[in-house]
Amino acid sequence: MSYRWPEDTLFTRLECNVEEQWCRTCGCKLTVCDHRHRRLFTLHGPLHVVCKLAHCPARVCPAHTRTISPEAETALAMPWWVLGWDVVCWLGHRRFARHWSVGQIRAELADTYQMRLSDDAIERSISRYQRMLAARQHDPQRLAAAYTDVETVMLAIDGLQPEKGHATLYVVRELEGKRVWCAEALLSSATVEVEGLLVQARAWAERLGKPVRLWISDKQEAFVRGIAAAFPGVPHRYCANHFLRDVAKPVLEADSHAKVRMRRTIRGLRTIEREVLAARRTSEQSQRPESPLEAPQCAVVQADEDAQDVVLDYCAAVRGILNDDQGGPLHPPGLRMAEALGDVHASLQRNLEAQKGGLLTPV
Ligand SMILES: [Zn+2]
Repeated sequence: MSYRWPEDTLFTRLECNVEEQWCRTCGCKLTVCDHRHRRLFTLHGPLHVVCKLAHCPARVCPAHTRTISPEAETALAMPWWVLGWDVVCWLGHRRFARHWSVGQIRAELADTYQMRLSDDAIERSISRYQRMLAARQHDPQRLAAAYTDVETVMLAIDGLQPEKGHATLYVVRELEGKRVWCAEALLSSATVEVEGLLVQARAWAERLGKPVRLWISDKQEAFVRGIAAAFPGVPHRYCANHFLRDVAKPVLEADSHAKVRMRRTIRGLRTIEREVLAARRTSEQSQRPESPLEAPQCAVVQADEDAQDVVLDYCAAVRGILNDDQGGPLHPPGLRMAEALGDVHASLQRNLEAQKGGLLTPV
């Protein structure tokens, strides 16, 4: 990644020397044979790294032609990177732990750290971060350490399509340690392709020395057959989530029909509001100073206005109820709509009854 540094950039200079001073082959003292200059972004400002490359000076030594780089260099940044490790880790953390967008990250880098990077450069670094993270997650030693206290493992497999028409990403997760074990984008859900992943999962479990207690997946043919073949005798449970989703479909459909019917029944809100507002305008005109009203008449107008407000509030409440679309199959919006409309109906009924008894009659 080449980067054009502005002319006035101030760099902190850092020299890196080869850690090893003596030739491992012949024991000669190593000498500096070349310098490598690198300019990096770090969270502490731009860095100019000078790596002193060394080699064995003895021409007869087989190691003479080998150039040795300081190992400290890769601790600052990987070869060809313009961003230091600290920046790459910062990017990954903001993107995946804080769910920042690339635009937000770009703005924050420019504002706080004076790093002006393109979206492309940021996206490239984020994908590098992901690759580094995946490599670390797969490190056998770290994995073994994570599973020392686990007796047996439970595995789940599922396929996700990021977008229609894209290859499906198949993921094997382990549920005790909550880790993704293997993931692969497969073009088809054929048993043969899925089997590859299952075999990989088996190799992982064998390497860890942990027996597989249970498999969980949906009822896709490739999973059912593949798991039975690669893990004979291991119980295979079908995922409750998928089951619920399948059950939810007809529930949501029925709910949506009910909502349409309720909306069809409750109409004319706008007409009522328009009438109230028109009445209000007429009474405002009659209230103008050139036709002053007597005190008792004012009270009547006030009472009317209060009543109009109540009508408008009812309209607003009902509109809110009809527009409520939130909630999934476990909290169907149509059910909530029916309950809320029932409340409105009861409230109106109470008002009507109060009026019949003469409690609230203003005139
Ligand atoms: Zn040597």
